[in-house]
Amino acid sequence: MRTFIGEGLGRVVVLNLQRDEKVLESIRGQLAELGIKNAIITSAIGSLKKAVFHRVTGFEKSPVDEFVTLENPIELASLQGVVIDGEPHFHMVISDLGTTYTGHLEEETTVVYLAEISLVEIKGLALKRVKDENNIAVFEEK
Ligand SMILES: [Zn+2]
Repeated sequence: MRTFIGEGLGRVVVLNLQRDEKVLESIRGQLAELGIKNAIITSAIGSLKKAVFHRVTGFEKSPVDEFVTLENPIELASLQGVVIDGEPHFHMVISDLGTTYTGHLEEETTVVYLAEISLVEIKGLALKRVKDENNIAVFEEK
């Protein structure tokens, strides 16, 4: 385990996404526009017409991911994760009319009615993600 300590919290960003807006792309774009490098996501709810995510499928040293695309009426119940060096890494909890899913949020996930998302900037943290020998992301000081 590696531990990194930020100096405190900065700006609070509240996003209101509307129909046909893309979740990950919108968050990434807004963080870039605001110059926010590191943040925690504190809330994310809404409804989706399309969800794209990946999930692990086994215990190999290097992860073997399965990519899933759903195009149904979908409830977005949660996004959790951190933004490091401008790049969000969020996992989501979603459900359609029959099943609940979890996984790593991918591009092309699209709002049907709305999404309300809040993020809080972490100040005084200079990290980047690098891939280790097993293609797993780890944090490193910049
Ligand atoms: Zn992930």
